[in-house]
Amino acid sequence: MNIVFLGPPGAGKGTQAKMIAEKFGIPQISTGDMFREHLSKGTELGKKAKEYMDKGALVPDEIVLGMVEERLKQPDCEKGFILDGFPRTVPQAEALDKLLEKLGKKIDYAILIDVPDEELVKRLTGRRTCKKCGMMYHVMFKPPKEEGKCDVCGGELYQRADDNEETVRNRLKVYHEQTEPIIEYYEKKGVLHRIDGMGSIDEIFNRIVKLLGG
Ligand SMILES: [Zn+2]
Repeated sequence: MNIVFLGPPGAGKGTQAKMIAEKFGIPQISTGDMFREHLSKGTELGKKAKEYMDKGALVPDEIVLGMVEERLKQPDCEKGFILDGFPRTVPQAEALDKLLEKLGKKIDYAILIDVPDEELVKRLTGRRTCKKCGMMYHVMFKPPKEEGKCDVCGGELYQRADDNEETVRNRLKVYHEQTEPIIEYYEKKGVLHRIDGMGSIDEIFNRIVKLLGG
């Protein structure tokens, strides 16, 4: 059961990937975790990646793929794996397929968590953060007891610059430009599955479990 998760920011992709990984006993592989591990262990790939990151440049695909290859060769990936946050572009998806072929594996499911843009704007712009302790709230889904005030420490709640409407709409535009070609790529391969991303975390989880036959 080799799975790639796709979906816009705010769709709850990471949460679902984690829950599915636990349910089926397969590892969730995120590029963020791989980077942190290689950097902290000071591996060759980690050192190379750091050179680019220190310059504020994107880490080249071959380095990321090197990390993915090393990770997929580990024994815990034998029963399957979930890739979360990778691939992000069609060239990465193609390179991943080549790598999997070499390892005698393939992607079985590309799961797209589909959420309309207007809903994502509502979810992402409603987030509020405590200035003092960093606790997160949401004006609709997790409101504080007293408006504008942190339940934990009484600190002032504010909207991070990342969460204002203009930034959110821009992130969604970038997502559509980058990800739609990948969606098409997996659709052509016959492995794309669209999951309705509206509803509660458990409802969405159950839809994915049903798809995977669990
Ligand atoms: Zn607080």
